[in-house]
Amino acid sequence: MEGQPPPARPTAHAAPYDVLIRGGDVLDPSQGLRGRRDVAFAWGRVAAVSDPETIDPGDARLVIEATGRLVTPGLIDLHTHVYVGGSELVIPADEVCSASGCTTVVDAGTAGANTMLGLRMLTQGHVRTRVFAFVHISGIGLAGHPHGESRDLLYLDPQLAARCVLSYRGFVLGVKVRQTAALVGENGLEPLRRAVRAAELAEAVIRDRVPVMVHYGSAPAPLSELLSLLRPGDVVTHGFNGGRNGVLDDAGRVDGAAREARKRGVLWDVGHGRGSFSYGVAAACAEQGFWPDTISTDLHSASVNAPVVDMPTTMSKFLSLGMPLEQVVARSTVAPAQFINRALPAPAREPLLGTLQVGAPGDAAVLDLQGGAFAFRDSLGYSWTGPQRLSPVHTILGGRPWGRPYPHPYLIP
Ligand SMILES: [Zn+2]
Repeated sequence: MEGQPPPARPTAHAAPYDVLIRGGDVLDPSQGLRGRRDVAFAWGRVAAVSDPETIDPGDARLVIEATGRLVTPGLIDLHTHVYVGGSELVIPADEVCSASGCTTVVDAGTAGANTMLGLRMLTQGHVRTRVFAFVHISGIGLAGHPHGESRDLLYLDPQLAARCVLSYRGFVLGVKVRQTAALVGENGLEPLRRAVRAAELAEAVIRDRVPVMVHYGSAPAPLSELLSLLRPGDVVTHGFNGGRNGVLDDAGRVDGAAREARKRGVLWDVGHGRGSFSYGVAAACAEQGFWPDTISTDLHSASVNAPVVDMPTTMSKFLSLGMPLEQVVARSTVAPAQFINRALPAPAREPLLGTLQVGAPGDAAVLDLQGGAFAFRDSLGYSWTGPQRLSPVHTILGGRPWGRPYPHPYLIP
């Protein structure tokens, strides 16, 4: 987090707004909105989005001056590992999110059916970040890291995973599976088949879609075979990995099976991670117009320091690949929000995340869009420079400033 603490504006009377982000360049793809606006928050929600200088600063308990800075909905990271205590391969959500503009994360299968209760308790009681989860088709989740959780099919019980989806409906969005040869041993694509089976079992009960997220990279079968098992609404993560059976064919063209899967409604996610993002693969895909649907980090203990760092850094890498800023922000806010909303029980399906619409939860990011020459690194150790970088300045969660430096006075609505 950069910059100075936002100036406090103590007032003698009760102000109608808790926080006012003043004069920023608001970019909210959910509303097709780009331009200078004031954004005010009250009661934990977005209370007003107005032309600049139309809201009296005296009407807010705290004013954040954002002239020259980008203001977006709170960033949403579809692939993280935040289950502290559930595996070694995790990071505390609040530690990273509070300083990176990220307000919602999805834990991608750190917990299996046997360990989901712990993740739920942790995120309900001890974490401010909005957290959702995929349940791993392996009942042990990633507790056995670094050993492959899908080497023994006894752990992969579709009934247990389906029960977990149903028990934690609204928190567990779907079923996760890792299809890397080293993690599945001799089991080929059977883990994915079981993940899809678990999703179908749950779907039969709730009569609604339950998505599967498949991690692939050096998969034990050709990409076309893996993708043929996926249904519309399922998501492929580590979409630009540099392993065997990847998105590019031998001639360096985007595999026809990937384009066909996308046409059917299968989503392509980044899931950068320590070993799953190749600049060469992503650049070839970009040249051929094959962009990710969602930008995510795969943040965990082994990826956070380098090469991932955080959401803005991952977004910056796509800027460097030529993706327009509006698209980069859309795929880090409204696109993952739509995925989450679709997976929530019907009564909860308000367009609540990934937007600065009035009435939405008061989640926002203030970012510096810097120009210059910035060094980036991929998961294979390749380095390149890009002309722009998004740098996080402030995170607003639930209408309150978040992270360091702590704002003063710390707001308690
Ligand atoms: Zn992961």
